[in-house]
Amino acid sequence: MKSDLNKKHDIFKNIINIFLEFIYPENITCIICNKPINKENTYSMCKNCFKELHFIKDGCIKCGKPIINHSLEKIDIAGCSYCFSKNFYFDKSTSCIEYTDFSKKMVFGLKYSNKTYMSKYIANIMKEKLDIESIKFDYILFVPLHKKRLKKRGFNQSQKIAKYLGKVSEIQVVDAIGRKKKYKKII
Ligand SMILES: [Zn+2]
Ligand SMILES: [Zn+2]
Repeated sequence: MKSDLNKKHDIFKNIINIFLEFIYPENITCIICNKPINKENTYSMCKNCFKELHFIKDGCIKCGKPIINHSLEKIDIAGCSYCFSKNFYFDKSTSCIEYTDFSKKMVFGLKYSNKTYMSKYIANIMKEKLDIESIKFDYILFVPLHKKRLKKRGFNQSQKIAKYLGKVSEIQVVDAIGRKKKYKKII
């Protein structure tokens, strides 16, 4: 049997929880570190985590990689030093955030920890980038997952992001790319 002191402690804990739910409704916590946050926080992240996201504002016009050193010689080149000697099968690529240990956490969380809600926030980041740079497009396609990997993971993270991006940008998502071979995991 619980002592009176324990009972009182439980009641006190319940009151605290009700109070916390009132301040942070719908169990709103930072999607990276799980700290409670305000419902209106951008991308559902706490201030500290949000600061760690490095948005690419001045990416290469060809490959989208962040350009660290601008030099006068590079100004006339349609691309950065990385893509200068390369031929791509696309006209232009755009990146939203720098690939750092921190942004990796978001991708890893989505891919390997079943945090499928991350796809919504990643789609929001992409939507903002598309709006800022006034990028117009007709369809959204997603990278397919090999059927064995899809079976193992249970979902295709790229398809999930595409679904949300389609919703917020009101653009049709088309399942039009096939995968012939199972490639080695990139990350
Ligand atoms: Zn956080
Ligand atoms: Zn480049």
